[in-house]
Amino acid sequence: MTARILVVDDIKTNVKLLEARLMAEYFQVLTADNGEDALAICNNGQCDLVLLDIMMPGMDGFEVCRRLKENPETMHLPVVMVTALDQPEDRIKGLEAGADDFLTKPVNDLALVTRVKSLVRLKMLTDDLRLRASNGDEFAMNYNTVMEEVIAPRERPNIIVLDDKASSYEKIVHNLSGANNIDVETSPNDALFRIVEGNYDLAIISLSIKNFDSLRLCSHLRSLERTRTLPLLIVAGNGQEEIVSRAVEIGVNDYIKRPVDVQELQARIKTQLCRKRYNDCLRDSVQQTIALAVKDPLTGLHNRRYFEMHFTSLFEKSVASGKPITAVMCDIDSFKVVNDTYGHGVGDIVIAEVANRIRKNVRNVDIACRYGGEEFVVIMPDTDIEYARVVAERIRREVEEHPVIAEKGSQQVYTTISMGLSCLHPKGDTPEQLMKRADEALYDAKNAGRNKVMIKAA
Ligand code: GH3
Ligand code: MG
Ligand code: MG
Repeated sequence: MTARILVVDDIKTNVKLLEARLMAEYFQVLTADNGEDALAICNNGQCDLVLLDIMMPGMDGFEVCRRLKENPETMHLPVVMVTALDQPEDRIKGLEAGADDFLTKPVNDLALVTRVKSLVRLKMLTDDLRLRASNGDEFAMNYNTVMEEVIAPRERPNIIVLDDKASSYEKIVHNLSGANNIDVETSPNDALFRIVEGNYDLAIISLSIKNFDSLRLCSHLRSLERTRTLPLLIVAGNGQEEIVSRAVEIGVNDYIKRPVDVQELQARIKTQLCRKRYNDCLRDSVQQTIALAVKDPLTGLHNRRYFEMHFTSLFEKSVASGKPITAVMCDIDSFKVVNDTYGHGVGDIVIAEVANRIRKNVRNVDIACRYGGEEFVVIMPDTDIEYARVVAERIRREVEEHPVIAEKGSQQVYTTISMGLSCLHPKGDTPEQLMKRADEALYDAKNAGRNKVMIKAA
């Protein structure tokens, strides 16, 4: 992961130290020794994360943070405040200024790298979304709605705490249950099942449970489909640094040290929950985009593009295996009249309902598509013309016999459909010819007075 980190500190040796450590992790490092320069760099979009010292002559770190968070152009930039250990009130002021996380001086390597990676990951997700929004992506256009859901979700986050020491989990529950639903699990043997089965947004896992290897649990959670992306935050005691680095290596998202600082814990949780919600939103949108590309939104049937993508290969498979394949073209009769009489909205309902009746009567292996406005195509592999005629006849009858109910029952629309069928000819047939014959059969059905199923032999 490469990212540009801005280190802001008025003391040169502090800057040099952080710079060296970050460069060892292959981050690009920019530096500033005062607030004004730091703001200028951020406003120019030159960095992905800011490590911010508090005490600086002129503008202090709180003020820099406040200004970054007020500006819509820089508000997504993660800010990590570097605080002195003996100044706990700095953290509260930092949170009020909008800081995303804290590091304590002297800065420990593992803490630095974990925090920075965790926040950079989140920043990448935001950037992706913003970029897509600016490119006209429909999902990302709802950027503000997405952001609202990510930053201030309507539902309270579900958090599970795995810890066998009451004094330890009670403090967490006490401080977090105002804004979150918290479950506590004290028995490590039940933990895996409970975490996998529960619908959690985050798991907080103690590293100090008696006779239990918490790391093994974390690694197990990482390997399971249902918990692969579940944010894991571990609570480590003194002297457990080595376990913490191994935990981070196996994919634990973040850690916090005992005695747990509540503000720090809240900041960490906020970052992890944000990242999870971003991921969830992006995943949903990708799935939606994929579905939209091949699905007709009005009817839920495949669209014409999907048909074009799959028809030829189905056709060739049938030719190769010597099995029949039947194409059915279907068109709603006098549909213009439906639109003219009841309006376009009712027309849409009729199209969707005819599609439903088609879908109900075909198999999963058949491809049913909306081919055009009020036209449908069904491709039936392994199906001869006689069998296909029975299916088509059943659909035709269902449409004829049951009116479409629209406008909450106030409208009953009677309609009919015409259908044309053609079956693969064993010698020298092509996909285009097969479709052309089905279309001709449909034309015959219309000419014969509509509401009919006709067949065109090769
Ligand atoms: P025929 O029996 O010969 O098929 O007559 P028809 O009126 O159904 O045929 P025509 O192709 O002349 O008209 C189809 C109409 O379908 C015209 C078009 O405005 C309407 N249409 C196409 N797509 C949609 C749609 O998505 N929704 C609605 N409500 N109407 C549509
Ligand atoms: Mg029509
Ligand atoms: Mg038509």
